[in-house]
Amino acid sequence: MSTSHAVVVGGGIAGLAAARELARGGVRVTVLEGSPLIGGKLRVSEIAGLAVDEGAESVLTRRPEALDLVRDLGRGDDLRAPGTTSSAILSRGALRRFPAGQVMGVPSDLRALAASRVLSPAGLARVPLDLVLPETPRGGDVSVAAYVGARLGREVVDRLVEPLLGGVFAGRVELLSFETALPAVAAAARTHRSLIGAAQGVRGASSKDSGPVFATLPGGLGTLPGLVADDVVAAGGTVRTGATVRELRRRDGGWRLTIGPTRAPEQLDADAVVIAVPAAPAARLLKADVPAAARELAGIEYASMAIVTLAYPAAAFPRLPKGSGYLVPAVESDPERGGRGVKAVTFSSVKWPHLRDRDPGLIVVRCSIGRFGEERTLQRSDTELADVAVAELAATCGVTGPPVETRVTRWGGGLPQYNVGHADRVARVRAAVADQPGLAVAGAAYDGLGVPACVASAHAAATRILDDLRSREGADHGAEGTRAQ
Ligand SMILES: Cc1cc2nc3c(=O)[nH]c(=O)nc-3n(C[C@H](O)[C@H](O)[C@H](O)COP(=O)(O)OP(=O)(O)OC[C@H]3O[C@@H](n4cnc5c(N)ncnc54)[C@H](O)[C@@H]3O)c2cc1C
Repeated sequence: MSTSHAVVVGGGIAGLAAARELARGGVRVTVLEGSPLIGGKLRVSEIAGLAVDEGAESVLTRRPEALDLVRDLGRGDDLRAPGTTSSAILSRGALRRFPAGQVMGVPSDLRALAASRVLSPAGLARVPLDLVLPETPRGGDVSVAAYVGARLGREVVDRLVEPLLGGVFAGRVELLSFETALPAVAAAARTHRSLIGAAQGVRGASSKDSGPVFATLPGGLGTLPGLVADDVVAAGGTVRTGATVRELRRRDGGWRLTIGPTRAPEQLDADAVVIAVPAAPAARLLKADVPAAARELAGIEYASMAIVTLAYPAAAFPRLPKGSGYLVPAVESDPERGGRGVKAVTFSSVKWPHLRDRDPGLIVVRCSIGRFGEERTLQRSDTELADVAVAELAATCGVTGPPVETRVTRWGGGLPQYNVGHADRVARVRAAVADQPGLAVAGAAYDGLGVPACVASAHAAATRILDDLRSREGADHGAEGTRAQ
């Protein structure tokens, strides 16, 4: 067991996963979470007697990190697959199946694209130009809208790529970085002149992956943080809630953290610190001793959104939905353009059969509202937001009568925006942090905001800290040995 003490600031999934690795590496670890609850964007609560996620609800299975974590916790057998992943898009006034073969909205199969009727005849006619257009220069980084629009036309951007990225980032395609928001397609596009060809390349490479694309836990993905925290404690660590870290300063080769309200501050010393909080609080903590990282972090913007969860009697639906849900492009959902404001609908009871099995008489639906720059949409009361969701379901799915229960969860500043230049910005943050012994950063602000990417960033942070502490302890022992001789 090491004698070192590491503090992890932030008890979201990144902070907890990092703490778990540190504790299992023999380090005494303390997690400091500012809010009363651990888990950050992973949270579950009951609606109409069913446990339903308020934030993230599933993990991608194409990346191993989150699944490995669940399996490592001995819960691999609990993983649940969706009943269906077939989803639709509300385009040109009707719900239409997502075209087969698309990669984050970039089509790889022109016949499937035509059959989906998501695009207008003119929009569809524009797409094959991609096959003959000369290479599109992109220099360092460009926006998703600029690159995809130049290759495939504006309708592909507006009606396919934007709604999918809207689901992940709640972001704007004019601002989001092609390199970091669509990393697989952007990497393939370095070796394919045609973007359709790049999407075909990505599809070809992933066709070996079989099985469901998503997984969750039976009590909701929001149960994962509790499992990780229990493991941290079992390995000798401490997890504190209601412990907001207000200041971080270098001290005697380690760090001093100031916690709690200004009238009753508490100080805690650590040999190493992992900062696993969103970019704005990370910037505040790093301002004094790592100003270069703080400046860069302060430039990362965040989108706010809300999830309205509704539990309906099954009879409220004229027919039970078949797919897992549908997306509403900004061009259709923007209230300023006559839309209702809902950008995505998930039929949770259809997507997750274990939820339906628990109460076959209920259909639980999650509606997502709000994009970057649409703050006005969220300035409405909870009742008004719930009414927006009810109106959306009535208009698009013919749902009648009121839901038996409604829950509104607001995620203010919930999603980092990977805007043009994000990768370079993150590289500058990491370079500044790398100069500081015993310091690492992790979480959604950096190299991917999905849970698997957050767990991967936690692993990288914990590895850095463990290496650093071991080499320092080795040096201390060496020095003691020399003194003893
Ligand atoms: C509505 C929604 C749905 C999502 N759906 C999915 C999904 O289905 N699948 C998926 O993979 N991803 C999804 N995501 C993204 C993913 O959930 C998040 O990116 C990820 O959980 C972020 O984890 P984190 O640990 O980096 O940060 P957070 O979850 O933000 O955790 C950071 C923690 O730090 C705490 N904190 C902040 N400042 C301080 C401070 N000064 N001192 C102490 N503590 C502090 C916060 O209270 C918080 O608990 C979704 C996100 C949202 C908002």
